[in-house]
Amino acid sequence: MRPFENRYFKFEIVRPGLWLLAEKTVRPLVRANVWVLEGEDAVLVVDGGWGVVDWPLTQIFADEERPLWFVTTHSHCDHISQAFQFTSRRFGHRLADPVLRAPGPENTNAQPWSVHLDILDDGFGDLGFVAGDYGKAFRPAPLTDPVEQGDRIEIGGRVLEVHHTPGHSKDSITLFESEAGWVFPGDVLIATYIVDMLPGCDKREVLGSHQRLLQLPFQWSFGGHGAPLDRGKAVGIIERYANRKAQEGVTL
Ligand SMILES: [Zn+2]
Repeated sequence: MRPFENRYFKFEIVRPGLWLLAEKTVRPLVRANVWVLEGEDAVLVVDGGWGVVDWPLTQIFADEERPLWFVTTHSHCDHISQAFQFTSRRFGHRLADPVLRAPGPENTNAQPWSVHLDILDDGFGDLGFVAGDYGKAFRPAPLTDPVEQGDRIEIGGRVLEVHHTPGHSKDSITLFESEAGWVFPGDVLIATYIVDMLPGCDKREVLGSHQRLLQLPFQWSFGGHGAPLDRGKAVGIIERYANRKAQEGVTL
């Protein structure tokens, strides 16, 4: 694979075998991370972004001969919009499948939130993006490979364990690559604000998922938004979240 950049996208390597696709059209604060893992047999794209502009896959992955597989950490709008482009294999929790079969503004939480999030970054006004219409044009992408707790996604020389980590959504999964000591927890553990008040959120489930994450011997966490977290930072975020919830009267 090779780095790629144009007006709308930047694709760069961040660790050996791990790349990040950034949607430059989206403000950094709400931009969703798209992690890309290189295996010997396949390239696994983790999450499907906001899709303000459709991803030019053939340009980004020019000369790539391995099949492009897709996995969604959960079925929120900013993680599934481009799933339809991956026609080989689409992984995700089985509870995400009904949403991916018929994604729309409400079941992906695109509305009513997008209007308030001020998604579009400066300099892209010419795109004609209308926040209130966001989510109406999502395209179906049924899962070819629904997964559950304990399943494994093997991409050739690399194995990702699936852990069900609900709370931010019912269908949230974390991928754990034990060999590297990496987790991909989607939005249940991120450096920015952990969202727990959308439809489908459950604060106690977030607390429980955090405890299960701590049982995994990960060293780095690559979440759905914000910068990667080393284990120490991740633990701090988990502790602060638990303290805030305790003040709200929510405990495990
Ligand atoms: Zn989310």
